[in-house]
Amino acid sequence: MEYSKLAEFYKKIEETTSRIEMTNALVELFKSTPKELIDEVVYLSIGKIAPEYTGLDYNFSSKSAIKALSVVLGIDEHEIEKKVIETGDLGEAGYQLYQEKGIQPKEKLTVEEVYNTLRKIAETTGYGSTKKKLELFVSLISKASPLEVKYLLRTIIERLRLGIGDNTIMDALAIAFTGSKENRTYIERAYNLTSDLGYVAKILVEEGLEGVKKIKIQIGRPIRPMLAERLSIPEFILKKLGGKAGAEYKYDGERIQVHRKGDEFHLFSRRLENITHQFPDLIEFMKEAIPEECILELECVVIDPSSGAIQPFQMLMNRRVKYVTRFHIMMYPVAGFIFDIMYLNGQDLTLKPYPERRKTLEKEIKITDRINLATRKIVDNTNDLEAFFHEAIENGCEGLVCKSLAKDSIYQAGKRGFLWIKYKRDYTSHLADTLDLVVVGAFYGQGQRAGYFGSLLMACYDPETDQFKTVCKVGSGFTEDDFKKLDELLKPHQIEHKHPRVNAILSADIWYEPYLVLEITGAELTLSPVHTCAWDKIKLNRGLGLRFPRFTGRYRFDKKPEDATTEAEIIEMYKNQIQIKI
Ligand code: AMP
Repeated sequence: MEYSKLAEFYKKIEETTSRIEMTNALVELFKSTPKELIDEVVYLSIGKIAPEYTGLDYNFSSKSAIKALSVVLGIDEHEIEKKVIETGDLGEAGYQLYQEKGIQPKEKLTVEEVYNTLRKIAETTGYGSTKKKLELFVSLISKASPLEVKYLLRTIIERLRLGIGDNTIMDALAIAFTGSKENRTYIERAYNLTSDLGYVAKILVEEGLEGVKKIKIQIGRPIRPMLAERLSIPEFILKKLGGKAGAEYKYDGERIQVHRKGDEFHLFSRRLENITHQFPDLIEFMKEAIPEECILELECVVIDPSSGAIQPFQMLMNRRVKYVTRFHIMMYPVAGFIFDIMYLNGQDLTLKPYPERRKTLEKEIKITDRINLATRKIVDNTNDLEAFFHEAIENGCEGLVCKSLAKDSIYQAGKRGFLWIKYKRDYTSHLADTLDLVVVGAFYGQGQRAGYFGSLLMACYDPETDQFKTVCKVGSGFTEDDFKKLDELLKPHQIEHKHPRVNAILSADIWYEPYLVLEITGAELTLSPVHTCAWDKIKLNRGLGLRFPRFTGRYRFDKKPEDATTEAEIIEMYKNQIQIKI
């Protein structure tokens, strides 16, 4: 398969402003892909070479990419840098320079060659790797056309900026290989159990939908996490859960999915990055405490080992380093509070109800100083729920996660639902809870901030339509440092026009690929003629907007854009707010 096909596909995606067109382009691409290449094309379509959990990254700087261009074009690096500044984008600079030089390759680049070389680049580490990576990349771009070099450059520095989401890929796979979008359910279940769309696509192409239905949990492949809805009134929580719930402390730490087979451990973050190397101490503690073959989930927190007291979330951030040393382990000692088990000795437990999974945990986990179960209480009245909530807060937790005890209380991999309801209260604002919103655009500031952005256009996520819908324009709560940091974080994700998955009425000065999630607080949710969240759902020609929004200072790097607060959650919050007022 020729790589030019992929380059044309990227171009089409970049030009489109419609999600349907985006899906159609993917369908076309997948249909024209030879069977044996489908997994590679799925990864490359989003600029990757492997699923995220493998941690395989190119680790290739823009500086190296400029050097590679200079070798191939035989011009000075400064000249290339000038072009990058002029065009604002390395890919575009490469494209223009190739055109100016009239470069047209004699040989055609194939997808196989591109994939294999990119993979080699990612796998090259250690001493002398920068030089080796450079040589490999030079060999690749010396065979590229102007359009191909544009996307190879963006791929290698991980700035493809197409914003294709998992749901769009799954829709396209279902349409391309089963003829109907309806079959996405099966693809989605398989993906939720394995977190590897390339692998699911391969099985789909080779063994059909029946093969996909047989895909099972595997140790080493993370399960996509189950997520909680939110409610802030105890009466509503109990009502939603049928009058009775398993209330667990909501620890404010880092969610970790643990996979164990004998001495082999894999630790995955909430975003499913491989973080095994970050917690050697936790692994040691678990060797004594958890079954030899299992997959479970815990919240990891920093504690004071002498008292066992939970330390604030910020302390744990000190463990987010590339190399964990004895210093980190001593200064920031961690403990794990296990709250679920999804797999035990070859058996998938995800379809068992929560009370059964909890019983399994109680039977299988040996409690130690550092490994414990999430504190839990069965509650059936609001007084007990309130009292337990305050007890959780006093013990350094964020609140509670109230869990359904019903027969159908399965582990809903990759889904946000009301089987788990989080109950947090933010006393500092009138709004019952904070919102995690995605930056989709920005507006230029005035006065001192003229020429820079002064406020950001923020959106929630709607999984039904796979769209990001706007909720507010936020300009307060940012420090000068925040503005600088945001500028750096957002620049690589700037795009020419509104992203096809963004649904907005307001016209931003700058548009971004949905990427960065920020925690936002505000006074209240009100009907809005300019925001598209809940459009027509509460009142005709009105959406919901957040009044007096403010950045809390918390960057949610642990959340992908699709993990942002959902439209359904915001509607629920709006309705609760009205009931409180009444
Ligand atoms: P949020 O991240 O705000 O959507 O809240 C859900 C998060 O609460 C999960 O992703 C976990 O990281 C965390 N959490 C803390 N304690 C528990 C618990 N007992 N059960 C489930 N999730 C918990």
